[in-house]
Amino acid sequence: MRAPGRKGAERHGPARAPSQELSTRIGQVKQRWVVLDVGETLVDETRVFRTWAEIFGLPEFTLMAVLGGSISNADKPDDWRRFFELIQRPDWQDSRPDFEARYGSLRREDLYPDALRAIEGLKERGYRVAVTANQPARRHGELVALGVGVDAMGMSDAMGVAKPDPAFFSRTLELLGSPPAGDVAYVGDRVDNDVLPSAAAGMRAIWIRRGPWGLLHEDPRGVAHLVVRSLDELVERVDEAWDA
Ligand SMILES: [Mg+2]
Repeated sequence: MRAPGRKGAERHGPARAPSQELSTRIGQVKQRWVVLDVGETLVDETRVFRTWAEIFGLPEFTLMAVLGGSISNADKPDDWRRFFELIQRPDWQDSRPDFEARYGSLRREDLYPDALRAIEGLKERGYRVAVTANQPARRHGELVALGVGVDAMGMSDAMGVAKPDPAFFSRTLELLGSPPAGDVAYVGDRVDNDVLPSAAAGMRAIWIRRGPWGLLHEDPRGVAHLVVRSLDELVERVDEAWDA
């Protein structure tokens, strides 16, 4: 049964070359990984901060605006947490159990509408897909329950390291089975936590500009290899992260 195929290929003569190039190219793409962040990449965190507004008895507008100001003024990754001081709740950690009880598990409506279809779209394009993020360990199972089907997943609380620590990115590579860092793209909304450390780890850094951090941050040195505004756009343009 193989003979007719070979014969058919021979019949094409010179046309074989482009076909061989194409299969080589597809072979290369299949070994590439796209690793997705969670907050403001897959998940819209509106309900997170709405829940905090509820706990603090603050109008949502006030809390969201002060959060935005704090993100804008932050010089270091965690400086935005100053917003808890601005709203006079430096003791906010004490309310964590209350937060967890009110927020509960991730819900389908917390996922950005393009989240699940982008994961499928990336797979259809031959990429292996993973999720690693700064999140409580329980989010792993919650994401799987919502239909986030990926080849590897790791939450910082379970990994024992968090962004922007370089160890988070080396641990991420281990989770993927230790591919070359250059074959891995990391997609996240924050320049400080996602773009800079993933690029420093030798990965292709893809900046998704959505959510408050994504819109307020800047990348003056142009470190990101690709900038997109949605995961739908990511699926369309992901190859470009390797062209940059
Ligand atoms: Mg994020």
